[in-house]
Amino acid sequence: MTNYASNLTDVISRKVSSVLQELLETKHLYQSVQISEKDFNEVINSIIEEHKREASRAEPGINLDGTPYLKNRVDKLNKERDALLYSDWYFYTESNPPPGVPPIGSVDLPPLPLPSVRVSCGSKQCKGSIQPHNSGFVGLRYGTASFDFQQDGSVIQIFSFPYQCQNCKEDPLVFLVKRDDLKLTLVGRSQFPEVSVPDFIPDAQRKFYRNAIIADQTSFTLAAALYLRTVIEQYFHSTIPEVEIKAIKGNPTGDELADLYAKTLPKNFPSNFPSLKKAYNDLSEIVHSGKENDEVKKSFSAIRTAVDGHFRAVQLFKQMPTQ
Ligand SMILES: [Zn+2]
Repeated sequence: MTNYASNLTDVISRKVSSVLQELLETKHLYQSVQISEKDFNEVINSIIEEHKREASRAEPGINLDGTPYLKNRVDKLNKERDALLYSDWYFYTESNPPPGVPPIGSVDLPPLPLPSVRVSCGSKQCKGSIQPHNSGFVGLRYGTASFDFQQDGSVIQIFSFPYQCQNCKEDPLVFLVKRDDLKLTLVGRSQFPEVSVPDFIPDAQRKFYRNAIIADQTSFTLAAALYLRTVIEQYFHSTIPEVEIKAIKGNPTGDELADLYAKTLPKNFPSNFPSLKKAYNDLSEIVHSGKENDEVKKSFSAIRTAVDGHFRAVQLFKQMPTQ
């Protein structure tokens, strides 16, 4: 006979592991992933279908559809699902597996192995590149820690998950993850994720470019737009000959700087390449809109792509032999 409970347990365990992996690999600080009770409708339906098939094999011609018995089975499975989903969760690392198997008949989710993840490593050797990280680390003496409590009927757990880069095996990286019922939020990281700034961004502008990326990743899009506009503005100032800027009375506007800058570009610089003038104006529009939402975030991404395209083209032209 099929072991229904263990089937449901397996599917829920795999789901928790996979959303946790998604959280650690793709989300930034204070972003979340969510599990829904509906995610398990399919497995519950398949258990019910299998149960119906078994019943009709045992007693040909029997049809359980619409019977109180079947309804009761579904209710029971939903209760089992909730008991597993809303129990306290425990995780263990590869280096410290749990001491034994959970007792038979336990209604809690069994301890789950922490998934391996691919995240950036900020060590001198790895330089912010994405590397495989295994849970636990060499010399780890205890398992993972969690702080568990109930708040307004919700299960709250705050976990600390140690990981180690498999490329450099340097100091462990510890993630802090908050669970609020079925929602997991990344609330801390012992090392700030290294942001790799493309090499075509000029040296003097790299710091603010990096800040723009971090602000964007943490959904402070207005700050991101301001930082990226500062990158462009400072680059204008560093490229345009000083006398030309001084010739403008008062503070030069972005448009005036952009026009002077355009004159410094090589004559054969294609006019259909992304222009910094447009990027500057688009970023100003974001700053003045005072809005921070998905639409603004999307347009920031498009502007950043254009700015990257411009700097990449400039770098390319600098490398080309002059005629
Ligand atoms: Zn590393």
